Amino acid sequence: MISQQSYSNQKAILFLVPTPIGNLEDMTYRAVRILREVDAIFCEDTRVTKVLLSHFTILTPCYSYHSFNEESRSKELLEWLHLGKKIALVSDAGLPGISDPGYLITSLAIQEGYSVISLPGANAALTALIASGLPSDQFCFIGFLASKASQRKKQLQMLQDVDKTLLFYEAPHRLRGFLEDAYELLGDRKTVVARELTKKHEEYIRGTLSELLSGEWLIKGEIVVIIEGAKETKQHQELLTLSLLEHFQYYQAKGLDEKEAMKKVATDRKQSKSEIYHELKVKGKV
Ligand code: SAM
Repeated sequence: MISQQSYSNQKAILFLVPTPIGNLEDMTYRAVRILREVDAIFCEDTRVTKVLLSHFTILTPCYSYHSFNEESRSKELLEWLHLGKKIALVSDAGLPGISDPGYLITSLAIQEGYSVISLPGANAALTALIASGLPSDQFCFIGFLASKASQRKKQLQMLQDVDKTLLFYEAPHRLRGFLEDAYELLGDRKTVVARELTKKHEEYIRGTLSELLSGEWLIKGEIVVIIEGAKETKQHQELLTLSLLEHFQYYQAKGLDEKEAMKKVATDRKQSKSEIYHELKVKGKV
């Protein structure tokens, strides 16, 4: 069933509010206003958020909502909405719901028919991506991989054929192990380690995985790792072993029309569309 959300005359609203990832100047005017106007703020760590609230003279009461009490607290948050209150969810830094609590209460609030408004703002992964120098047109946000090496390797294996730029969060003490596994399972790809974004010691370390691993560095602080996507997927390699006609028919069987199928074949085979068209025309297939 389609559910449509409109905000006029809505009393109860859940606001998802971004907070800075290091530099307080990245707090938006709107985020400050909303945090001042809502009836309650729910946050991961009240000690962290209270520092932010006091900096911006926000007097709204603040309660904890973190991964350990997410389920029980979600029921309380729904109660607030049920009473017609406006509430805001923030995390310690960045966007709530991105490698942070937020998804559960958002889905429950939508299910119950309440309005959810998300404010745009700071996010570590996207901040790093656009300055990484790696393709930002298509990317795949992964966040944290498992801390257990065997699980992490399995997760990396699943990413081997993804041809989009990969975005990871990682803790500094696990970085070397992560890069070693990435090198083993993804190959020697271009990689950027972005650390301490928006802070005094902000730094981008660029190189291939093997270059990064050869350095005797010790990385501290908060880290985003950006790795270039797979150059050629296994599936792509297999397609190149087909005849031109089989290749074209493969895309048609996937539901693409003649024009789209020719375009895909041309891209895969690094030929021009007109060349593909002529070859198929000679065979009487278009
Ligand atoms: N919700 C946040 C967001 O929107 O970016 C992410 C929260 S996640 C729990 C925290 C991780 O984000 C850190 O371990 C680190 O990998 C990354 N991160 C957060 N702040 C960062 C910063 N200033 N520089 C680099 N990475 C950062």
